[in-house]
Amino acid sequence: MTANLTVAGLLAEGVRELRASPAGTEPAATADLDAQLLLAHVLAVPRVSLKSHPETLPDPSRIQHYRRLLARRAAGEPLAYLTGSRDFWSLRLKVTPAVLIPRPETELLVERALALRAAADGRVADLGTGCGAVALALASERPGWHVVATDACADALAIARANAGALGLSRVELRHGDWYQPLLGERFDLLVSNPPYVAQDDPALATASLRHEPPRALTPGADALSCLRTLVRGAPRHLAPEGWLLLEHGATQGAEVRRELVDAGFRHVRSHRDLAGHERMTEGQR
Ligand code: GLN
Repeated sequence: MTANLTVAGLLAEGVRELRASPAGTEPAATADLDAQLLLAHVLAVPRVSLKSHPETLPDPSRIQHYRRLLARRAAGEPLAYLTGSRDFWSLRLKVTPAVLIPRPETELLVERALALRAAADGRVADLGTGCGAVALALASERPGWHVVATDACADALAIARANAGALGLSRVELRHGDWYQPLLGERFDLLVSNPPYVAQDDPALATASLRHEPPRALTPGADALSCLRTLVRGAPRHLAPEGWLLLEHGATQGAEVRRELVDAGFRHVRSHRDLAGHERMTEGQR
């Protein structure tokens, strides 16, 4: 009987439960890893120690907690909301359902920002920072940059502030407000943003993985490009000469974003593909 309540037994139970979730959904596809991450989280141990100590008998309250999280994961809740964190770039970030979960493809924004500005100093703004992922990654790589991060959602800014504090990056300046509104009268060398860009009627919003994330961070409404357009059109007033605007966008939006940038007078307009081969972000220089 107790064999089922060892770490090894609980992992096997977790894998069975997650595999039984609706076919083709995420929890079934990543059942092994997810069961390990949830059990390691509940036991507050590194994942590797589950394999090195398979015979451990966790106490009943932790087993109960693990089983509750398993059931939520099997129903489609994102793992990051269950464990409360997600790794992005070199950082472990706190996340809650108030913020979008940072995606690996968004690391492309960080890579391009670092590539486009070699200088050790500079002023950088991340618009719609959410949990702070892009702003904090840039600040961690370039201690001499002055990084400002804005968000219209106060709950998101509170998460970004907690992350900045936990990572020793409190010099990142967090400001509340819509897009450029908190940057009135200021200019930057780099403007970066991963805005909402999924159309309201896109069936993707109803899928298990996006259903739990804040709609406000995912969709601007019926016009998928509306935030991207606001960001492009407002950028010239907030960029220093030769400054760059870098925007993440949807896989099919590259051509339209390039056109917006060219129309707004940007030079060196260029899109980049993510690891899945999709045009995922576009940059342009003032
Ligand atoms: N990249 C997210 C997705 O999975 C969307 C993020 C966003 O709207 N900025 O669709």
